[in-house]
Amino acid sequence: MPDLLDLHTHSHHSDGVLSPADLVARAAARGVSLLALTDHDTVTGCDAARVACAAAGIRFVAGIEMSTQWRGQAIHVVGLGIDPASAALAAQIDDVANRRRERVLAIGERLATRGRIAGREVAAAALEAGGVPTRMHLARALVDFGFADDAQHAFDKWLNRDRPGHVPVVWPELADALPRLARACRAAVLAHPHRYRLSGGALRQLAADFAAAGGAALEVSMAGMSPGDHDRIASLARRCGLEGSVGSDFHDPAVPWNPLGRFAKLPCGIVPVAERLADA
Ligand code: AMP
Ligand code: MN
Ligand code: MN
Ligand code: MN
Repeated sequence: MPDLLDLHTHSHHSDGVLSPADLVARAAARGVSLLALTDHDTVTGCDAARVACAAAGIRFVAGIEMSTQWRGQAIHVVGLGIDPASAALAAQIDDVANRRRERVLAIGERLATRGRIAGREVAAAALEAGGVPTRMHLARALVDFGFADDAQHAFDKWLNRDRPGHVPVVWPELADALPRLARACRAAVLAHPHRYRLSGGALRQLAADFAAAGGAALEVSMAGMSPGDHDRIASLARRCGLEGSVGSDFHDPAVPWNPLGRFAKLPCGIVPVAERLADA
């Protein structure tokens, strides 16, 4: 059985499709031995995941993927080894979860007024699933209502910028949110740095700001990264003195290209952030 780790995954407590127990069963079947659950802006799945991991002999890391913004762009930060007793973090999580619920309602309104479809009903369905609602919930509801063929089509037709359901969103500033998260966890990790639409110079500035505000690592090795992305982000980590994390960003077993625990090894000279999690 291979010895794998995965430090970025989602359950149905946010926009993943599996329960924490089913996610853990899948991780166990893949040979994952160290697993973090990192749902968007919630830790509500972590207790169930911890119990399932203990039963499966997997080391568990309580995590979260926090929504923040930097220079007006949404930036995700994964917190690993979360302290459940941190009141400051709990308040930040509540604030962002509320912003997410309000955003779903605002998007529903726009879909109704600008898109001329049953947007309020779509929003209600997206909220019905429980958990922290994301645009993925809206995309799935749009498919269920017959307004899109699949989730990607729903983003392209209704939700993306310049589409009828686009609503600008304001997340907490990285400079405020990151120090709070960093104090309440073992390691704050800049999620999927290769995916942001930033110039090389802006990405270097983001990584430098991230390190200065208490960030520990970049996701250097992820499912979906090209070899070029991998080299570029590894160089950025070395340059900023940041460690490296690995994760699949797993959401859905029906998506075959990001199975739990599969991505390239961290390159030489990158300190694995997992070392900080030895007894998390
Ligand atoms: P958000 O609510 O904006 O944080 O988006 C929630 C999730 O939807 C993300 O974590 C992605 O999994 C997915 N997503 C966001 N934007 C897109 C897009 N343009 N196309 C497809 N999926 C997206
Ligand atoms: Mn997601
Ligand atoms: Mn993300
Ligand atoms: Mn994610």
